[in-house]
Amino acid sequence: MSQLTIALTKGRILEETLPLLEAAGIEPLENVFKSRKLTFETTSPDIRLLILRGSDVPTYVEFGAADVGVSGKDTLLEHGNNAFYEPLDLKISICRLMTAGIAGKQLPPGRIKVATKYVNLAKRYYAEQGRQVDIIKLYGAMELAPLLSLADEIVDIVDTGNTLKANGLEPREKIADISSRLIVNKASMKMKHQQIEALIDAVGSAVTERAA
Ligand code: AMP
Repeated sequence: MSQLTIALTKGRILEETLPLLEAAGIEPLENVFKSRKLTFETTSPDIRLLILRGSDVPTYVEFGAADVGVSGKDTLLEHGNNAFYEPLDLKISICRLMTAGIAGKQLPPGRIKVATKYVNLAKRYYAEQGRQVDIIKLYGAMELAPLLSLADEIVDIVDTGNTLKANGLEPREKIADISSRLIVNKASMKMKHQQIEALIDAVGSAVTERAA
């Protein structure tokens, strides 16, 4: 059997991915939360895990440095270009990608400023809406931008909405429902078909069981 490399997204998504992999018989040999290592052997001798920053996962899978990846749909939409297969919705880390702005405040007419870390996605969304926008790239604390008049709206992920509310913002339009997805490198899907099909089946069963 050939080696299969799975790229995982660290943080919240990782915590929810590991139980699914475990149910599929794949467990890292070390505690991934305690170690500073970036690669981990697993109880399946032919499978190793990479723990990456979320936005790097699609890139590793696109170029075949990893055969398989787990990534939030928000990150996949931002990455764009259907550069890999997306065969399985893991139904974890569920949230919504939304626009938001100061509660009760109308958008000004004409061109608006939008702060987000999802630059490509936001450009596409507002273009579809026929809105002219200047996108301002931020790396965190998007909620501050409208309050300090850096932006008229933000594009961010929303779960309970508590963070928006705590900062005097309101959710406006839903751009997409978000959950984490299993993605597969296109060449790997051909070259390692049996192994990857078996992985998709096993993880798919774990997803179904978890939902039951
Ligand atoms: P909430 O207050 O529940 O709406 O969540 C607020 C913040 O938590 C968001 O701004 C995100 O940064 C983060 N968050 C919520 N859900 C997710 C998720 N599924 N994946 C990653 N980050 C999330």
